[in-house]
Formats: sequence, structure tokens, C-alpha cells
Amino acid sequence: MNSKNAVITGASRGIGKKIAETLAKNGYNVIINYKNSRPRAEALKNELEAQGCVCDIFEGDVGNYIEAMALIDFCIEKFGSIDLLVNNAGISEIKLFTDITPDDWHNMISTNLTGVFNCTSCAVKEMLKNKSGSIINISSMWGQVGASCEVHYSAAKAGVIGMTKALAKELGLSGIRVNCIAPGVIETDMMKGFTPEELSAIREEIPLNRFGTPEDVADLVLFLASDKARNITGQVIGTNGGMVI
Ligand code: NAP
Repeated sequence: MNSKNAVITGASRGIGKKIAETLAKNGYNVIINYKNSRPRAEALKNELEAQGCVCDIFEGDVGNYIEAMALIDFCIEKFGSIDLLVNNAGISEIKLFTDITPDDWHNMISTNLTGVFNCTSCAVKEMLKNKSGSIINISSMWGQVGASCEVHYSAAKAGVIGMTKALAKELGLSGIRVNCIAPGVIETDMMKGFTPEELSAIREEIPLNRFGTPEDVADLVLFLASDKARNITGQVIGTNGGMVI
């Protein structure tokens, strides 16, 4: 068994799924977290195990501290430690600011920001004991520049960026690196709400004239988690085709 153990939140679909596949195929033992999509998570586990990878699945809402703690504990019980936490689970919603209800706001912050706090809080306690670890937060370019009609999403993702920078300063001397990836438009279920015309208009705004893929993000995670990124912490790295420069 490889000595590197990773938890990927929201890994049943989209970007998280590709991150789990990429890490597993590169020797990590992975815990695949999901909230609702048990059949998809089980299918991914079966696919990876058939390829000789070591993995397991864990159902839990990252926005709930007790469930986040159980997720991290599951990894430690199963593999002995946690070396890498990828905070990827997220939701999005497009609404005028004046239509955002307190419940909408709470749900968005709970999953996209409190979820990062919950999982990180539990994982860091273990990483501090080992004086090593890597945390990679999946934010968004909208956390960097703000998106009209996505104020709550942009606020949560900006919070993740602030948290990454502050925590990197606090944990550096303990051998723990904290970084953030800010994807642009990535082709996943999250983009399903857009019409072909809207997608075409968005693509025209992208200098490289392409949407990103989950693999683009997963390759960056693999690099940031590796020893090749040993001097990188507190950074926000975009993968957006040049949409935000
Ligand atoms: P997606 O295809 O909608 O998948 C979301 C994943 O998050 C699913 O596995 C889902 O689990 C999980 N999830 C949602 N709420 C959760 C919760 N409370 N607890 C645990 N898991 C939860 O989304 P995606 O496009 O892959 O996005 C992944 C991340 O990248 C998100 O943080 C998103 O904000 C960010 N991002 C995406 C884009 C993009 O264009 N797609 C751009 C920038 C940033 P279930 O399947 O069980 O529901």
C-alpha cells in the first residue's frame, strides 16, 4: 500500500471524480466522499479497484461538522493517516441578488465555505501530529473577480481564497502546505443549466477558445500535491483558458 492517503470531497461526479481517478492511478489511497450519489460513488470505487487502486467511499455532508469529522476519521481508521485533503465539494446557483433568500445564502456558504472549514479543521489536527500534509481547495475564478447573479457563490469562493492564504501562513512552519485552484468554466453537470447559445457566448470570452475539462483541474491537483510543488503554498492558481488574467 502507498504511504500517501487522500480524501477528496464531492468525488462522485465531475471534477472531484477525475481528481480521485488521477490520484488513485498515481498511487494514492483515496477516500471518495459524496452527499447523495451513492451509485456513482460505488461505480467509481469498482472501476478503480478493478485497476488495482486502493479506495473506499464515504457518504457525508461536508457542511455538517460531525459528518466531516466522521469522513476524516474514516480515512485515518482505514489508511492510518491523512496526507492530502482536496476540498472540492461544491454547489452553484444562478439568481439575481434580490432573489437570494437567507436559506439560499446559508446553503451556499454551508457547502462551499463552511464545508472547507469543517474538513480542514478535522484534517489539520492529524496533519499537525505528523508535521506534514497538503490541503488543496477548489475555489473558482468568480471568487477572484465576482460573477453577476452569483453573489453568494462568489462570496463563498472568495472566502475560500482568504482562508487558503491565512492558513498557509499559519501552517507553513508545521510542514503543511495549503493551496487553492481557481478553475474557469469546466465542462461538468454544474454547466448543465446554460443553453448552447449562452455557452457559445461564454466560449468567445475565453482567449484559448475552449472550456476546461475535469482533467485540467486534476492534473494541477496532482502537481500541487507532489513534492515538485514543495516550495508552493498560499497560492491561488487559475486554470481558466485565460478568461481571468
Ligand atoms: P458537480 O459536477 O456538480 O459535482 C459536485 C460534487 O460535489 C458532487 O460529487 C456532489 O455530490 C458533491 N457535493 C455537493 N454538495 C455536497 C456536500 N454538501 N457534501 C459533500 N459533497 C457534496 O460540480 P463540479 O463542476 O465538479 O464542481 C466541483 C468543484 O469545482 C466545486 O467546488 C465548484 O464550485 C468548483 N468549480 C467548478 C467549475 C465548473 O465550471 N464546473 C468552475 C469553477 C469551480 P453528489 O453527487 O452526491 O451530489
